[in-house]
Amino acid sequence: MIKGTFPVEPFKDLDTPFYYYDIDLLQKTLQIVRSELCKYGYHCHYAIKANANPRILKIIAENGLGADCVSGGEIKAALDAGFPAGKIVFAGVGKADWEINLGLDNHIACFNVESLPELRILNDLAAAKGKTATIAFRVNPNVDAHTHVKITTGLTENKFGINTGMLPLLFDELSNMKNVRFTGIHFHIGSQITDLSAFQHLCICFNEIQDDLEAKGIVLQHINFGGGLGIDYYHPNHISIPDFENYFAVFHKLVRQRDGQQVHFELGRSIVGQCGALISKALYVKEGEVKKFAILDAGFTELIRPAMYDAYHRMENITSDEDVEVYDVVGPICESSDIFGKDVELNKVRRNDLIALRSAGGYGETMASQYNCRPLPKSYFSDAIV
Ligand SMILES: *Cc1c(COP(=O)(O)O)cnc(C)c1O
Repeated sequence: MIKGTFPVEPFKDLDTPFYYYDIDLLQKTLQIVRSELCKYGYHCHYAIKANANPRILKIIAENGLGADCVSGGEIKAALDAGFPAGKIVFAGVGKADWEINLGLDNHIACFNVESLPELRILNDLAAAKGKTATIAFRVNPNVDAHTHVKITTGLTENKFGINTGMLPLLFDELSNMKNVRFTGIHFHIGSQITDLSAFQHLCICFNEIQDDLEAKGIVLQHINFGGGLGIDYYHPNHISIPDFENYFAVFHKLVRQRDGQQVHFELGRSIVGQCGALISKALYVKEGEVKKFAILDAGFTELIRPAMYDAYHRMENITSDEDVEVYDVVGPICESSDIFGKDVELNKVRRNDLIALRSAGGYGETMASQYNCRPLPKSYFSDAIV
């Protein structure tokens, strides 16, 4: 069985479960993202919610990316990690007053506005401070991302964004607002998108929207196409870096970019997903009537994606080379959804073996909870573990 390379000996001294990040892979991934962005003069704001580990954020900030935030806490985390405020954008359907004020006080680059009531409040709050907020409208392009229902965001009947039919009303109100400055439009159609045709569709929708707006005399200084590029959860050892080249090429080929217009992206999972693994220990192997259960010390409190999105994570027994057997791999949480996988092939599992759950760098640690009064998982890094 092919497995990732892990420093198994040092791991044996650490309390499990914990997150382990391959810093080399993260740096390589960032290098490719940077060179692809550079090819076309594009900009990228890393989506903090995918992984907000301070060490990871610092590395991403050092690589010159901006930050895409969806809460005041994320704005603080981005600033603490060294992202310049001028490279921070702020999206979200429910921005609280304190969060808007935090963005205003720090002069963030852009508020991605998701509704008319939010636009009004933003204008009022900016007026109260005698400031002008730079804004974009998050538009719902009605593109089906063909991804899990819980992570699709670009369809018309969705809590996110503004439907194109509503735009004239917003531009009407905008013309009377003195404390917001409109600069562009923003999209984010969903996450874990592996079929690039969804992005092709997005480009075509954008071109139509741009034509409509230009006919009304509205100029877009910037376009933000959001994130959503998926990773290969099935082959983390072979396809450890997503196909950024073809992803950005889609936009370059299809978007009718105007002179001086900036193109932005907000990648999250595709940057951090493959560099993280959740390392857990097998506590018990329980023989059922037909099945064998490998019971781990990690559960959905550390990695919720299987329970929440039916997500697949490749699992590897990194301390055994014995013959492969088949297990249902489960966690210790008192909920029947606490299952990492059914009929999983693993090298024979014995008590205290270390089991790696791969591709857990995105939406893993950030979604951890303390349910059942469990402590939050620690994290370790490949360049600091020995
Ligand atoms: C979550 C999110 C992203 C990042 O999505 P990924 O699938 O992780 O690339 C980008 N933009 C917005 C507005 C988001 O909410």
